[in-house]
Amino acid sequence: MSHPPRLSRREMIELGLATGFAATLPAITNAGEPNASGSGHGRQPRNIIFMVSDGMSPGVVSMAEPFARLVRQQETHWGRLMRTPGVSHGLFDTSSLSSLVTDSAAASTAWASGSRVFNGAINVLPDGREMTPIGRLARAQGRRFGLVTTTRITHATPAGFAAVVPVRDQEDAIAEQYLGGVDVLLGGGCKHFDATKRKDGHDLIAEFQAQGYTFWDTRAQVCGTAAPNQVLGLFYPDHLPFTIDHRNDPDLARQVPTLAEMTRAALPILASGANGFLLQVEGGRVDHAAHANDAAAILWDQLAFDDAVGVALEFAQGRDDTLVVVTTDHGNANPGLNGSGSRYGKTNDCFERLARATVSYERLRGVLPNAKKGDAPPREALAAGLERAFGLELRDSDVKTIQAALAGDLPSELNNQHHNLVGVLGQILGNHNGVGWTGVSHTQDLAITTATGPGAEAYAGLHRNTDVYDAITAAIGSTHRNPAMTADRAQPLLAQIPETATPHWV
Ligand SMILES: [Zn+2]
Repeated sequence: MSHPPRLSRREMIELGLATGFAATLPAITNAGEPNASGSGHGRQPRNIIFMVSDGMSPGVVSMAEPFARLVRQQETHWGRLMRTPGVSHGLFDTSSLSSLVTDSAAASTAWASGSRVFNGAINVLPDGREMTPIGRLARAQGRRFGLVTTTRITHATPAGFAAVVPVRDQEDAIAEQYLGGVDVLLGGGCKHFDATKRKDGHDLIAEFQAQGYTFWDTRAQVCGTAAPNQVLGLFYPDHLPFTIDHRNDPDLARQVPTLAEMTRAALPILASGANGFLLQVEGGRVDHAAHANDAAAILWDQLAFDDAVGVALEFAQGRDDTLVVVTTDHGNANPGLNGSGSRYGKTNDCFERLARATVSYERLRGVLPNAKKGDAPPREALAAGLERAFGLELRDSDVKTIQAALAGDLPSELNNQHHNLVGVLGQILGNHNGVGWTGVSHTQDLAITTATGPGAEAYAGLHRNTDVYDAITAAIGSTHRNPAMTADRAQPLLAQIPETATPHWV
């Protein structure tokens, strides 16, 4: 990671902590009022649904509203929740112990353990001490516990609530740690459970089944009426496909459930216990679309996340025992809609072009004839392929630049963050759809949070992300406290870790 030259790493860490003091700001909403779900102030929830749009900069939630109106002629669930009197509005400071900019491992750990760690670690402090994540504490308190995501189920954000590993890449180990400790697992990443794909050759799917889990691998099973006691559902070898691809590919649509469908399946299974539940729901591919500067993909995945928010709110509605928290773990690439034209009069036309895209950058090579890595197709064929993908007629000079980028020949004057194929694509398509990007990596933005239900008032105002641990342990009645490490103690250890141990742009 590169830092601005005038601040030392230590100064930056201290600055991060200085801006992240434990929140003492008063709630900016009237937390004493009953909220939309009819719950009140000061009581603890029986059920907690913690919803994460991963890597969601504030511009994403802003743009999702007009995008939902454009492609669905309806408002977003999150937007409607934000406008509901009595809900709690908050922000998280998301710095990690090693950087002002967190990765998803450190961010999820902060929520789940109450302590900040170095980027890349999951519930392990820089000196090797392990912490007990909130999912395990919830189980110890008799709650049921579930993880639902569009990423590999072993990816950093779900893993942070349930696993303990020094390096997030140890996904085979994370999969093993879920066995028996998580009641509902729905997402992608079957390669970390499959005997033919795991390095140790263990058939984890069989091991889960032997311990009583039902195994699902099709969308029909998720949408069926069966409500097993415990379920492992894996619907793709890797991350689930982007929503924009899912909705435009009948084979994917047949095989892979949506985040909302998985959430709808998870809730009754978790609610069948006697003592309530903790569920984390992650719209994980919002982050990946942000890394890719792929504006259409990010908005379609944000809407898929929003559909899941709708399912959670529907569950909570009419009952007074369920807390729903909707948030993100960090910003990413800071997409935002820039005004275009005289008096910004072309802005809306630009934005509406986003609805024409039918494929993510991830699948772009599939629609470009003869496009292989480092091998650019002829310009006319490339222009036709791009037009099919994005519904845009690009200028010849734009096509020429993309052709060069495909061949690995990137313009030298670009910002380093954009000095790659997706950076070039994002900049060029931004000339047409109005969406600008600061880079292709995570950002330091405050994380927008909305909460409703009993205990929601704990999320109002500005908080360190670690404060979530206090709120959830209080809610589940756990007095467990994990070890912690100050920035001062961590500083000498930070100098010892090789730069390669820190994930790059994840
Ligand atoms: Zn990321």
